[in-house]
Amino acid sequence: MQVTQEEARSRSAHAEPTIPPRLMTGDEYRESLRRSSPVVHVNGRRIDCVADEPLLAPGINAIAVTYDVAHRADAAPLALAVEQSTGKTVSRFLHIDRTADDLLAKLELVRLVCQETGCAQRYLAHDALNATWQSTFHIDSDVGGEYHQRFRAWLREVQDQDLAIGVAMTDAKGDRSLHPHEQPNPDAYVHIAERRPDGVVISGTKAIVTGAPYVHEFLVMPCRNMEEADAEFAVCCAVPVDAPGVTIVARPAGRPGEAAAKFSARYGQSTGVVLFDRVFVPWERVFLAGEWRDSLDLTQTYATHHRHTCVAARAGFGDLLIGAGALMCEANGLDPYRYPGLRDALVELIKLVEGFYACGVAASVYEMRDPAGSVMPDVVFSNVGKLLLWTQIYEMHRLAHHVSGGLIVALPGPDEDHQPRPRDSQTCYGRAQTSRMTAASRRPGSSRISPHRTRGAGTRSSACTAADPRTR
Ligand SMILES: Cc1cc2nc3c(=O)[nH]c(=O)nc-3n(C[C@H](O)[C@H](O)[C@H](O)COP(=O)(O)OP(=O)(O)OC[C@H]3O[C@@H](n4cnc5c(N)ncnc54)[C@H](O)[C@@H]3O)c2cc1C
Repeated sequence: MQVTQEEARSRSAHAEPTIPPRLMTGDEYRESLRRSSPVVHVNGRRIDCVADEPLLAPGINAIAVTYDVAHRADAAPLALAVEQSTGKTVSRFLHIDRTADDLLAKLELVRLVCQETGCAQRYLAHDALNATWQSTFHIDSDVGGEYHQRFRAWLREVQDQDLAIGVAMTDAKGDRSLHPHEQPNPDAYVHIAERRPDGVVISGTKAIVTGAPYVHEFLVMPCRNMEEADAEFAVCCAVPVDAPGVTIVARPAGRPGEAAAKFSARYGQSTGVVLFDRVFVPWERVFLAGEWRDSLDLTQTYATHHRHTCVAARAGFGDLLIGAGALMCEANGLDPYRYPGLRDALVELIKLVEGFYACGVAASVYEMRDPAGSVMPDVVFSNVGKLLLWTQIYEMHRLAHHVSGGLIVALPGPDEDHQPRPRDSQTCYGRAQTSRMTAASRRPGSSRISPHRTRGAGTRSSACTAADPRTR
């Protein structure tokens, strides 16, 4: 059933989401990973049980935060949303955006979670679900068909079961100068290897999939424009992680088990190569199969949603840098407010972070209504935000390093604490033992959360606190 935009806007404005029992907690998400048995290799070793694997634990911890946040009363207005097509309350990470407020709430949620974990990971699913919602609607409107209805049915399952979805979009791509059908190895791009009455068989390689070992399903999408001869490479479908023929070869998440890595041993992100070897996908899970002209629409729509979300993710990470920089100044016995070199550097850091985040806010406010009944962030502001953060992320690291000094890369880790110490090691390395302090040991951005859309209230207050100790 199609909901009109007016209905959608009015329902979204008035509905008060409450936590439905079926939304998982972090621990329930961990347990849910035991229900499937994907073929996963990390560091050359086959993983017996993803849920128990220490090399993946920081990534699972980070995703668990995205589940727990939905159960926090203070974060619920951001983390929960009413899905207009069903009237059910769902995770914001799985929600189809209907209003500018939805886009702003997503930005704030992603920033909030990234302040805690560095990368929320599940926001990629939000972006892919919204793009596929739009694109399948466009295809069906143009040429008829049932892609959109199939996608809606699958989306309902995903929302009802509160699944973690990995986005398998970036193909291995082989020789980049060649189109998919020209590749000497056809598996350089995922493609339809066979069509059957009951579905398709896909083969090929997706090269970079965030969270691949510890999600429940993959949403396979094309990653580029196609030409007619590429038709069998234009495929979008949903595949469970343990479908026969799927193999995941992944990196460890973060720096598991490293005592000195106070943050990255706790939270991290695994990325995986996902190999599809003649994987059968029933038609009800196929959302694009050969419509090569529409590959570009799906890819670009995803890119717009994703660039918008990235702005919030890097802003959350920027908040971590700001907080960590301020803590290092404190540990070094320096009050940034009294020393212009430190104060200016921290203010510059805040300016960069809030600057690109503002593009995300503008892209939300100037949302673009889609015929599918959803909204997409403004393309220009989303891209400008992404371009700003893409270049400024290096400068952000330089500034954080500048205020902190060389100890952050040079100080031996806690494994060396058995060594003979200087007479008073606390005052030798810094004013307090906080010289080893990391952002993980204090959460600079978690001071408060806006119950409704009050752009960056929590994050901005933490940023100002970092720059101006008088506000403490
Ligand atoms: C941490 C991380 C997480 C990620 N998570 C995901 C994920 O969850 N899911 C997912 O699908 N993807 C993911 N990605 C992949 C990301 O989207 C890609 O890295 C990005 O799209 C660029 O693709 P590539 O890495 O293959 O670069 P390439 O395509 O190899 O590009 C390398 C360079 O070559 C240039 N180039 C490439 N082709 C051509 C050409 N034909 N002509 C001229 N120049 C060309 C590019 O502009 C670029 O400068 C992730 C990436 C990272 C780093």
